[in-house]
Amino acid sequence: MSGGYRAWSKVRDSGSRPEVVRRFKSGPPHCMDTLKLYWQDPYMRAFTARVIEIKDDYIVLDQTAFYPGGGGQIYDTGRIEDLIIFEVKKDNEIIYHRFKGTPKFSIGDKIKGEIDWERRYRIMKNHSASHIVYYFMLKVYGEKIKPYGSGLVDEIKDRQDYIVDDSFDVEKIRDVENLANEFIEKGYEIKTWTDENGIRHWVSGEISMKCAGTHVKNTKEIGEIKIERGKKPGRGKERIETFTS
Ligand SMILES: [Zn+2]
Repeated sequence: MSGGYRAWSKVRDSGSRPEVVRRFKSGPPHCMDTLKLYWQDPYMRAFTARVIEIKDDYIVLDQTAFYPGGGGQIYDTGRIEDLIIFEVKKDNEIIYHRFKGTPKFSIGDKIKGEIDWERRYRIMKNHSASHIVYYFMLKVYGEKIKPYGSGLVDEIKDRQDYIVDDSFDVEKIRDVENLANEFIEKGYEIKTWTDENGIRHWVSGEISMKCAGTHVKNTKEIGEIKIERGKKPGRGKERIETFTS
């Protein structure tokens, strides 16, 4: 994972923390905001769009289903026509698709994009699970723990660090796992929307958080989860890793 990604993904579940972004030196300042199709429909796998800019190793489109990373969720990968898209970033509201290959299209052309859906769907499941686990972690541990850092959700797992008074004990972690699995089994709808201030919201059952990522529509899609204590991230800290089936 490149150092760049870390710089781009510092927000999670907290609309109040500003997103840390690194400007592309050669970014096209005249570009309009990229329309975010992944918010309109997180299940969109393929789309058409118009090419706004091709420069160095990136493409800007008028709209995209590629999630650019942020809020702890890793960016999507996939294809634009026959180019491999290996990294996606957002600077202000413009989304940059980094590619490998030689584009056979030009600025103004219509292209077809397709995200790696299997990977993205696993990310959506892991990300949806992360909200539920986080909620029950705070419920079980109360004031004794505080989230540390923005965490990371990719296709393998969700990872979240906590500042703790005492080391995590296995029984309490199993309690969190059971509570989360009971919640997931109930099949709550997951709703997301943008409010008048441009903040994205995530709500499912009694749980409500701010989040700009992509998620499944119903907790049933997550399936049974497993929680593990990850490698200790440092003194006074603990790591929780969540896996979906
Ligand atoms: Zn989320």
